[in-house]
Amino acid sequence: MGKNILVIGAGIVGCSAALWLQRDGHQVTIVDKKGPGEGASFGNASVIATESCIPVATPGVLWDVPKYLSDPLGPLAIRWSYLPKLAPWLWRFVRSSGEATVEQISIALRSLMVEALAAHKELAKAAGCSDIIQDTGWLGIFESEAKFQSYQWDLELQKRRGVKFDILKAEEIKQFEPSLQPIYKHAVYYPENSYVLDNYRLVRTLAEDVTRNGGRVVQDEIQDFEIGTDGPKAAIGKNGRYPFDAVVVTAGAWSRLLSAKLGETVPLETERGYHVTLPHARKPRMPLYSGDHSFAVTPLDIGLRFAGTVELGGLELPPNPGRNEVLLKHGRRMFAELDERDRSDWMGFRPSMPDSKPVIDRGRRHKNAFFAFGHGHIGLTLGPITGKLIADLVNDRKPEIDLKPFAVDRF
Ligand SMILES: Cc1cc2nc3c(=O)[nH]c(=O)nc-3n(C[C@H](O)[C@H](O)[C@H](O)COP(=O)(O)OP(=O)(O)OC[C@H]3O[C@@H](n4cnc5c(N)ncnc54)[C@H](O)[C@@H]3O)c2cc1C
Repeated sequence: MGKNILVIGAGIVGCSAALWLQRDGHQVTIVDKKGPGEGASFGNASVIATESCIPVATPGVLWDVPKYLSDPLGPLAIRWSYLPKLAPWLWRFVRSSGEATVEQISIALRSLMVEALAAHKELAKAAGCSDIIQDTGWLGIFESEAKFQSYQWDLELQKRRGVKFDILKAEEIKQFEPSLQPIYKHAVYYPENSYVLDNYRLVRTLAEDVTRNGGRVVQDEIQDFEIGTDGPKAAIGKNGRYPFDAVVVTAGAWSRLLSAKLGETVPLETERGYHVTLPHARKPRMPLYSGDHSFAVTPLDIGLRFAGTVELGGLELPPNPGRNEVLLKHGRRMFAELDERDRSDWMGFRPSMPDSKPVIDRGRRHKNAFFAFGHGHIGLTLGPITGKLIADLVNDRKPEIDLKPFAVDRF
């Protein structure tokens, strides 16, 4: 018989989990403190980045950090007042950057990636929005010879994981993507990547599908749990009490406290990211990735979006508008013309584990508690497959993917 399941968080991960759980006949309620898709899922670069099997911490990261931090236009910033709180996470981050560890992480991430697009398409089709996913591939572009040379390490690793790509020379880049300035010396085309025309619309459409299937989507902030002799049995929100047979924590960057209340200690942090969206700008025909400055440019339905950068600064400090400017400064160099009228700026919280792998697991303390968060830079990509795996765990089915690398207690 179907269970009564509470999903906490209506981002791409929570909405996906809810839909897969409904397919198994469960009665699902999603509770979100805001609306569906208003967390990190609101403003990401919208790329289904299936090539992305390399963690953020790679060999040599310790030496790269000072270089990035000293460059005001660089891809990384730290809010120094937050450093004492960040230190334990940073320590684990650096410890995850060894060559052998990175190899293992890439194998684990790739095992999710190869199933990611199919899971997206299945949910989008059921929700009636198949055309929101575009199979264009994506193009990494390099102005700096040195950056391209250091990217060879990434390409080798991707090759070992079976990622397909083609290398383009300067003259080919011009033909391939005429909207770009002729300043790029190298490019890497990933033919198997896709993107979502509007990532926020996708999550809202999936949430509507949850409701259409008989589920509930409720606005409330979960603050605690009622734990009986058999384990947790209800969540306590600001506005109500939500009884459940099983609970799934998909609260993105806010999952650490909720997990602790359910008996699991996780080193979850946030890598804050920024975007600028230009509704009137001319768009390239596929998403681009600046290999020089580590950000994405995506031709969304609602405009051209520049998204990326990492700011380590926790969940409370206000955004730094300077980080939006950094993106746009680089963007102006990419394109001959850039219509900046009516731009919108945003900052959001990537939920990040030190080893760049999500948590996808059942609780150790309580068997009716499940955890799916920490997807960092690749949560849009991995949301639907994560939801499918959570449904396997809830139903005591053996998942097709080995979930040991994503254990909640691995640190
Ligand atoms: C600039 C930027 C660019 C990115 N680009 C990409 C990309 O191109 N491709 C990709 O795959 N990924 C990308 N990402 C990463 C991706 O956006 C995230 O990994 C993903 O959105 C995480 O989804 P989520 O559902 O786990 O979390 P969220 O979308 O943050 O959802 C969590 C939800 O939980 C709710 N919540 C939190 N606490 C509570 C509570 N106590 N009670 C009730 N509700 C609660 C929040 O309101 C929120 O809606 C990017 C991220 C950023 C910031």
